[in-house]
Amino acid sequence: MTVRQPLIGLVAVTLTATAVLPGQAETPLRVVYPPDDHQTTAEQIFLIGTGDATQPVLVNGEPIEFRSATGHFAPSYPLEVGENPFVLTQGEETVTLTVTRLAQSPPEGTTFLEGSLLPTVDIARQPGELVCLGAIAPPNAQVSASLRSESIALTPQIPVDLPPNSAVLTGQNTPQPQGAPTAYEGCFVPEGPGNLGAPTYSLSLNGQTTSQQAAGKVEILAPTPFEIAQVTANSGTARTGPSTNYSRLTPLPRGTRAAITGREGDWLRLDYGAWIRASEVETFSSAAPPTSIIRSVSSRQIPGWTEVRFPLQTAVPISLEQTADTLTLTLYNTTPQTDTIYVDNDPVVERLDWQPILPDQAEYTFRWRDRPWGYQTRYEGTTLVLSLRHPPELGRALEGTTILLDPGHGGEELGARGPDGTPEKAVNLRVSELLRQELESRGATVVMTRTEDVDVSLGARMDQIAQVEPTVALSIHYNALPDSGDAINTAGVGMFWYHAQAHDLAAFLHDYLVETLDRPSYGVFWNNLALTRPNTAPSVLLELGFMINPTEFEWITDPASQRQLATTLADGLELWIRQHN
Ligand SMILES: [Zn+2]
Repeated sequence: MTVRQPLIGLVAVTLTATAVLPGQAETPLRVVYPPDDHQTTAEQIFLIGTGDATQPVLVNGEPIEFRSATGHFAPSYPLEVGENPFVLTQGEETVTLTVTRLAQSPPEGTTFLEGSLLPTVDIARQPGELVCLGAIAPPNAQVSASLRSESIALTPQIPVDLPPNSAVLTGQNTPQPQGAPTAYEGCFVPEGPGNLGAPTYSLSLNGQTTSQQAAGKVEILAPTPFEIAQVTANSGTARTGPSTNYSRLTPLPRGTRAAITGREGDWLRLDYGAWIRASEVETFSSAAPPTSIIRSVSSRQIPGWTEVRFPLQTAVPISLEQTADTLTLTLYNTTPQTDTIYVDNDPVVERLDWQPILPDQAEYTFRWRDRPWGYQTRYEGTTLVLSLRHPPELGRALEGTTILLDPGHGGEELGARGPDGTPEKAVNLRVSELLRQELESRGATVVMTRTEDVDVSLGARMDQIAQVEPTVALSIHYNALPDSGDAINTAGVGMFWYHAQAHDLAAFLHDYLVETLDRPSYGVFWNNLALTRPNTAPSVLLELGFMINPTEFEWITDPASQRQLATTLADGLELWIRQHN
């Protein structure tokens, strides 16, 4: 399971029967998930646990229909809004727990929904740019907002709730229109620079009127002088919007400069459109925005890499877009004066095409001779260096390769838990260890991000991939589902990738395991995960089965099946690497 899912609750508490009478049950009744007093917005919940396979387990008096051979269970039950008590019994044993279903209800009376008045944080925008305000209030109300001399009438909208990203894992990602129109919105175009203060909202309903001020102020930036941001982080995290909910863009190498065109809380909008956290940059004032011309481009080979150098006058923002056959670099705030490009006879680059994108971008498209094995970017002063990875030089089997294995979780972080309480972290380590032995026996050098039950941060794991520059990086996990999932009927092999250079490996390993081991398929997913984001090498996160599926859990923890899985994974990896070399 990838740690981002809201299933963290699944880790901590095991509820075991209060009393075990001698000779009654071989296996005491226990519930591993959810913990008591669990809160969720899901419409149903699964109870993951185990008991004596020879005795029925009853939930609120009804026997659980499906149990695995060793007595594990994972039934789902619908939830009412509010408290839902569950009493599980097996013979004399009892386990009780309560699950509370939370539901957002529209505001009642003449009040705004708390925290819904926009902006919720201070924002800054350009003169002439659209500024939108909004609030959530009861249906059929009159809502307006005033800011200095501006008074804006807001119109009602039916809020459409988009399920979280994780909903795609249970196939429940359909937009949900939320009943009556309770979201009120309106926009205006402010003129000159200045601080407009915090908007005051007014709500009239049934002859009553109330007014309230938003938490955030609106500032209109002066067009000059320019405020410049320079990336001080090793790799600046650029996003499509001002919070970590927004998608990631190409990270900006240290030293990148761009003019700031907007603010929202502690996020800055840069002139090429991306947002970055203020803590990742330093700022200074300038009479002119950072722009550059570009003339010649050249490349050279160093051991294992082709370095392509882009001499610039300032470190401009970049983006990289990868497909199976190409890598496209875009330089922003850059005007070409290019007549000559030299790309040596190269083991990975078949051809480099470029074109100006008016008014101020330059685009370079690398066509691969074979397939991409990874890339890196850095600024050396104001020269951008794009390094393209050469394929490994193989000997017999996997000689000449370095495989990085990342056993997921560890230490305090248990990951998902099986019906008998087995933590995912333990199985990840065991299977990674078996896989290491297999790979080493084929001549590979294997690096593990952990070899014992310890905490290792995601950042440290990503740094290790950047430092080791493995041939491939595999993150080993076992899966679980969000609360609304169907634990009994969801099983199988899942693969997660992020960069196009890893898609083929993810799809190949998925198909190979499913076919060779006759395992169910859960699927191949594009996913923005810490261990799929490294671009130095094809990096794939493997979810090899579901810890919470009673039957699949027995396969997951069976020592012979673990060995067979490790051998099959090593076979598949060897096949893929040799095919792509
Ligand atoms: Zn995991």
